[in-house]
Amino acid sequence: MNTQRMRDILEKIKEYDRIVIFRHKRPDGDAVGSTKGLQRILQLTYPEKEILLLNCDYSDYVAFLGKEDEPRDDAFYKTALGIVVDTATTDRISNPKYALCKELIKIDHHIEKEHYGNLSWVEEERSSACEMIAKFYYEFRNELQIDLEAATYVYTGMVTDSGRFRFRSVSGETLRLAGMLLDMGIDTDHLYANLYLDNFDMIEFKGKILRRIKRTQSGVAYLYVSRSMRKKLGLSAEQAGMAVSYMDSIRGSLIWLAFIESDDGTVRVRLRSRFVTVSELAEIYSGGGHACAAGATVHSQREVRALLRDADSLLREYKATHEDWL
Ligand code: AMP
Repeated sequence: MNTQRMRDILEKIKEYDRIVIFRHKRPDGDAVGSTKGLQRILQLTYPEKEILLLNCDYSDYVAFLGKEDEPRDDAFYKTALGIVVDTATTDRISNPKYALCKELIKIDHHIEKEHYGNLSWVEEERSSACEMIAKFYYEFRNELQIDLEAATYVYTGMVTDSGRFRFRSVSGETLRLAGMLLDMGIDTDHLYANLYLDNFDMIEFKGKILRRIKRTQSGVAYLYVSRSMRKKLGLSAEQAGMAVSYMDSIRGSLIWLAFIESDDGTVRVRLRSRFVTVSELAEIYSGGGHACAAGATVHSQREVRALLRDADSLLREYKATHEDWL
């Protein structure tokens, strides 16, 4: 069934002279890697087509992958095929002009909350959207072109969205596809240096933030990073959001949450877990995502406390009904 979907997508791509690729807001390595990777593969394969990446917000974290394309006026979209990658719901698409496209394709690996697009290929069990792009290339390797640049984009998202191939969504096929890309000569020394080295101010932030980690009664670990703390340390909301990973190895804290105050006063919540599913909790707070990595937004301290209470109950219930957790 998925092979047929991929074939339908390829045939649709062949029909259009102009293709615009979109991704989600607040992009991460997977959103950027999958869209830049797909763009590059299609540009190499179809040099006569116009294939653009048009989004409205950008990530500093993966800025080393390079720029996207310059904005275009509304008329430009009307004759285009739109391809939205790594985005579960239309309200999370970075560029609202996706709606102007003549036809739309969805390629995604998130839990499907909204079916959109004329063609849709969703595989929730895939570790990343980049894995899907790698699969798409592999499936049609006799028709599609790839090079080291495209392989590097795609590999980047596979590494970041799978927690360096650690998460349970990683399958044998994930590693086989990653292996195929690695064999193209990816410079992993440079890639990992770009992804994982921190500036010294981030190390200072880490030192300060580690002391601020709190735990609820059932063991939910959490951190609250206020705007004033960010300002004091000169950190963007994106940089402060990295703090969620500082809590990923506390025994007994199977759920961990980072609350990051945005410049507009809303609070972004990054939810992570092992064993327990947190995406349904995120959905209660206008969010969603994957079973063990989800996001949400809250608008008041009352909502922060309510979310913490709900997370605490979820973990209490889980611990009471399961024995094999750590
Ligand atoms: P983040 O903490 O932003 O890295 O998000 C973790 C996962 O949840 C990613 O796959 C996001 O795409 C997804 N996600 C984050 N925020 C939301 C949201 N408000 N609604 C739906 N999914 C989200």
